[in-house]
Amino acid sequence: MDENNRYSDEDRVYRTRSSSQRSQGAARTRSSRSASQRSRSQASYDGEVRRRSSQQRSSQQRSSQQRSSQQRTRRLEPVEPAQTSASSGISGIIERVTSDKRILIAAIAAVVIIIVLIVALVSCHSNNSSTDTEDATQDQEQTQEQTDTSAEQTGEATAATGTDGAGNPLASDVVQEASGALARHRSAEERMATSTSDNETKPTEHVVYLTFDDSPSDLTPQFLDILDQYGVNGTWFVVGCTDNLDYINDIWDRGNQIAIHTQTHDFDVIYQNSDAFWNDSATICEAVNERLGFTPTLMRFPGGSANDYNRSWCKTLQAEAEARGWHYFDWNVGSGDATWPLLTADEIVNNITTESADNNSCCVLMHDSDSKTTTLEALPRIIEYYISEGYVFDVLTADSFGYHF
Ligand SMILES: [Zn+2]
Repeated sequence: MDENNRYSDEDRVYRTRSSSQRSQGAARTRSSRSASQRSRSQASYDGEVRRRSSQQRSSQQRSSQQRSSQQRTRRLEPVEPAQTSASSGISGIIERVTSDKRILIAAIAAVVIIIVLIVALVSCHSNNSSTDTEDATQDQEQTQEQTDTSAEQTGEATAATGTDGAGNPLASDVVQEASGALARHRSAEERMATSTSDNETKPTEHVVYLTFDDSPSDLTPQFLDILDQYGVNGTWFVVGCTDNLDYINDIWDRGNQIAIHTQTHDFDVIYQNSDAFWNDSATICEAVNERLGFTPTLMRFPGGSANDYNRSWCKTLQAEAEARGWHYFDWNVGSGDATWPLLTADEIVNNITTESADNNSCCVLMHDSDSKTTTLEALPRIIEYYISEGYVFDVLTADSFGYHF
């Protein structure tokens, strides 16, 4: 503002001087004074210009100094912040990179661990699968063993393989019993079947026929139970002189064979003559027919087809039997249990095993009467003997070999 005021004053000075020039008569003192004033004003103006220039220079110098100072200050200022900033960026990057590397390494490690775990799990699963397979096999074996045990307890059988005494395959209807017995189970039709066989064809099969004369008796159910326990069947030659005729049904229904052994089993009666024999036999045939609905065609002469009571005319009786359609059976293995006093079970077993030793097929004579307790006692060992020798247990049929004396 001061400088503006001075410029205004300067303008007034110029205007005053122009006025003085137009008045030609102005005093020279005034002119001189005016010149002096102009000189002072010019000096003042020049001084002002110089001062302003000086101020400008000072200002410029101050600015320069300030810039220099700032530059110095900048130079003197620690560079760490900038460097730190840059360093911080680099280190940040490094840190991030490092951090990223760590993350990457951690990720790789995690992946490796996962892969290892997966491989371990797969391997474990594979091992478990193998173990499972092995376990399943063991389970199957155990199940089979349990089935076998169960079959043994229930008397069930499985298909059997083997050969007969001549090396020929066994018939397909032979089964391996849980007891170890090879057994053929005949249907009712097979057991009832009639035939024109002369019963002279000797079996090649390693077969045993367990036969029980003078039956049924009080012991019949126990004999039947033992046979069932081993899963085998036998042939019962029944008589009518018993209070246990109804056991005939049990014998038959449990897969055994029924044959005739006369009604009275009284040697003095039946071997009087042919008529006496056949009339006596007719009675038991009727008794069996009443119970089973058919008349058997298998029979056994009491004491055998040739005994002390019929020795003189046995051939006639045998011929008559065949003419009447009978298939009569003797035996090739005797237990000796018909004697009195009773043989011990050991003696019975010994007799049977001794007589069986040389026979490929055995028709074994035993008795199922009320007194034959030692026969009953010996029966399990007799069956086990034939099992151990690989015999096939079968029942006699109309086509069987007669084992005639
Ligand atoms: Zn008898």
